[in-house]
Amino acid sequence: MSEHDLQTPAEGADRRPCPYCGEAIRAEAIKCRHCGERLEGGKRPRGQASQQIEQAATLSLVFGLISLLVCQCLAPLAIIKGNEAARLAAASREPTPGTATAGKVLGWISLAIVGLSVLVYGGVIAFALVAGTAGGGPGGAGS
Ligand SMILES: [Zn+2]
Repeated sequence: MSEHDLQTPAEGADRRPCPYCGEAIRAEAIKCRHCGERLEGGKRPRGQASQQIEQAATLSLVFGLISLLVCQCLAPLAIIKGNEAARLAAASREPTPGTATAGKVLGWISLAIVGLSVLVYGGVIAFALVAGTAGGGPGGAGS
């Protein structure tokens, strides 16, 4: 780690510090000419971070939609990915993508649906049990 790790003021628009030695290198360089380290396809660190944010946000939305439409078991994943995107965005001081918020909301809606149906089923079963034992209802009169 050197003091050049943070982004230096751009002297040329397509220059950036090498993440390994801190020397200024071309932004699209795939290999540092000062220390010889291989770089990741010439991506800027900032772009990489926002790509990660976007990926987590998109996953959150996808999981959210799937959990709402197909299987509620993915709802926690939607919320986790949405939170991850928000955390990454906060860490790199970028706005939280709308897709992350949407995914999180969809995840919570799915969880609410699960919670409600459990309550409803539980209520119906409890009611049936109470009614059955208390009233000696039609269920027992068959034989
Ligand atoms: Zn270097």
